[in-house]
Amino acid sequence: MDDLRDILRQCEFNFKKQWGQNFLTDPNLLRAIVSDAGVDEKTTVLEIGAGAGALTRALSERARKVFAYEIDRSLEPVLSRTLKDCNNVEVIFRDFAKADMSALETELNDYAVVANLPYYVTTPIVMRFVEESKHCRGLTVMVQEEVAERFCAREGTAEYGAVTAAIARRGTCSITRRVPRNMFTPRPNVDSAVVKIDFTAGGFTVKSEKAYRETVRCAFLSRRKTLENNLIGVFRIPRERAKDVLRAAGIAEGVRGETLSPPTLAKLSDVLLENGIVQER
Ligand code: SAM
Repeated sequence: MDDLRDILRQCEFNFKKQWGQNFLTDPNLLRAIVSDAGVDEKTTVLEIGAGAGALTRALSERARKVFAYEIDRSLEPVLSRTLKDCNNVEVIFRDFAKADMSALETELNDYAVVANLPYYVTTPIVMRFVEESKHCRGLTVMVQEEVAERFCAREGTAEYGAVTAAIARRGTCSITRRVPRNMFTPRPNVDSAVVKIDFTAGGFTVKSEKAYRETVRCAFLSRRKTLENNLIGVFRIPRERAKDVLRAAGIAEGVRGETLSPPTLAKLSDVLLENGIVQER
């Protein structure tokens, strides 16, 4: 295959910043991402943002089937060249935000997400899988380095937040590699990292996902306030009731929400639910 940059030039492709078009070209890095994801001949992969098809191609060499979304139709002539002999790839020219998750999952069945995500929508895309997916095994995604730190953060750190707690409920999360900005064309202003979120390992169940979401939102609402004060403000309960709830969840008085681990937040959400302070749906 011709050099990717030559193909882009020959197709007179113009990079669109608003769609986060920073492409990868290094074959070793592309193979490493596929390997981090654990893709093999049994894996169905969903890629979001095919771009010029460099990662799509690397995935196609290992996977059973690759479904790749791409918002930018002007990449069609590029992709028809770069993916010419990739018979197990289906490119879908659509905004992934408009994709119907349950219809998509019916088609894909058991699948993994592997992508170099467009940075302007990284968190909403990841959160869609965390909150809505039923058949996804996990995500291996390139994201901005500081976003990667937030996804995998430990409780009590500045990076720990509602997104971390949401991801932890579904599985484990780790950074598999750091990728400097000069690996992308064009070069972005930030460094990146590959994050692996594994829905088949770790994670925990809660009595109600909605209750867990509301509890997490409350815990991180005002970082300078104690959890007790956040509970009083968010759920409009008297102080004594807030103290009872904390006691029942085994949480010490005076703590801040951001110091609690995801399983402790889960325990708190179950107690709030059992006491009718948050509703199941
Ligand atoms: N996978 C390629 C690579 O690694 O070189 C391209 C990655 S680039 C960071 C992100 C790609 O996502 C761009 O090609 C962009 O056009 C596409 N994109 C941006 N927003 C999208 C959306 N909402 N739905 C589908 N694709 C999108």
